Amino acid sequence: MEIFDGCRAFIWRSPRENNCNAYLIGRDRRILIDPGHEHLFGHVRHGLDDAGVDLAAVDMVVATHGHPDHLEGARLFGKPTLLAMNEAEYAYIRELAGGYFHVPTPDFFLREGELNVGSDSFQIIVAPGHTPASICLYWPAAKALFTGDVIFNQGIGRTDLPGGSGEELKASIERLAELDVEYLLPGHGAPVVGKQAVEDNFQSIRDGWFPYLSR
Ligand SMILES: [Zn+2]
Repeated sequence: MEIFDGCRAFIWRSPRENNCNAYLIGRDRRILIDPGHEHLFGHVRHGLDDAGVDLAAVDMVVATHGHPDHLEGARLFGKPTLLAMNEAEYAYIRELAGGYFHVPTPDFFLREGELNVGSDSFQIIVAPGHTPASICLYWPAAKALFTGDVIFNQGIGRTDLPGGSGEELKASIERLAELDVEYLLPGHGAPVVGKQAVEDNFQSIRDGWFPYLSR
């Protein structure tokens, strides 16, 4: 589904299995955000086919965080596709994963601040709370914010998993709420489209969820 010029969403809809939304973005290069589970990678493959994009034509895979339902499928990409994630997040998931899932090796690490890919310019925001060093990716030219599992349409990421923190999640969400956003594109569930809808979503999260986020 095309969300806007330069952004296709592969929304995960099956209630039977958990997997994440993937996004193919970029006006100059092709970036895939969150490939999801390896065994459910057909979802992404189908989306790429629809877009007429070969796996090898994806320039970069960005993982918002290390959970297997977001990151695992990244190992299906070969060179020249690069994998990028946050360094502290990589360390966290390596320790957590044990033998449970194979953590792909990033080609480079994402830090807080600007990320330029071809002529597209993004902002990386380190947003802990769901995990210790989740990142969100903000695309100012499109007013689009890819939130991973930090915030959803009418919901927030779990804070009860290892490395989670309610206080940190609140602070991360308040930072995101400062941005000028027309498209909030979450890791699970439906996108929130329209500036007012995005603001309303932040407010309903504050009202509905923040009272329960204290640890
Ligand atoms: Zn997660």
